[in-house]
Amino acid sequence: MSILHAKTPIRPPYVDLHIHSTASDGSLSPLQIVKTAENVGLRAIAITDHDTIEGSLEALRHQHSTDVEILSGIEISAGVDSGTMHLLGYLIHLDDVSLRQTLKVVQEARANRNIEIIRKLQDLGVDINFDEVSKVSGGGQIGRPHIAQVLVHKGAVHSIDEAFRKFLKKGRPAYIERYRLLPDEAIQTILQAGGVPVLAHPFTLDAKTEGELDRLLADLKQAGLKGVEVYYPAHGPELTAQYERLAHSHGLLITGGTDFHGTVTSGVNIGVGRGDLRVPYRLVEELKRSAT
Ligand SMILES: [Zn+2]
Ligand SMILES: [Zn+2]
Repeated sequence: MSILHAKTPIRPPYVDLHIHSTASDGSLSPLQIVKTAENVGLRAIAITDHDTIEGSLEALRHQHSTDVEILSGIEISAGVDSGTMHLLGYLIHLDDVSLRQTLKVVQEARANRNIEIIRKLQDLGVDINFDEVSKVSGGGQIGRPHIAQVLVHKGAVHSIDEAFRKFLKKGRPAYIERYRLLPDEAIQTILQAGGVPVLAHPFTLDAKTEGELDRLLADLKQAGLKGVEVYYPAHGPELTAQYERLAHSHGLLITGGTDFHGTVTSGVNIGVGRGDLRVPYRLVEELKRSAT
């Protein structure tokens, strides 16, 4: 069954505040996402592409033709020494000049990094060029997974996994350090654009204990953080309860979403994640109250 034609609407009002489109690394276009959300009966969605607002902009162009409420969104990668820190920004003003300027710098750094990786591979004697990688990306953001796909396709490696182990991951010969905003810069970028900064999927952070995460949240709140993504497919009941507890104790909002990427993350569906995720609409109302 196509994800575009899911049969059972999931009322009452639920939302999905973490969705990727073809503007970053998802496989559905913003319009297909809006239609899917409509078909499964969601009340509201946010497209939160990596370091770009193009997916949100495109979805909002269809707001007039759908009952699904579309919130502007983005997911910004922040530089931390270990682990992965992503910051979601909701209800940002998409025409904000400084937001656009910052994203331009990040995107240019990303583009240069891809060119440098390809150059390193060529220096290592691998037959690969930029056009091949660009073609694989299908016009969206280019990243290491696309480079890996070309390496598999050309027989340089047997699998995506091997491409990363042999060439692309940190410590390997074609690895290039990535430029990222610092956490407080990412938070400020979102705040300055009138948005609500929310820490995405805390389980990817390198905070192993509740105490560590507690301290980290205190620092991030000091920098302007306003919420934590608590409801998320990979957070089991225990982590969900822990994150709920921490969000409450720091006076932070709670959000949730599936991190849907289409066929890229199989088994995860819009609105329900792996089947049992439900994110209530009242969280959107709280986000709105918090937006400047
Ligand atoms: Zn993320
Ligand atoms: Zn994401």
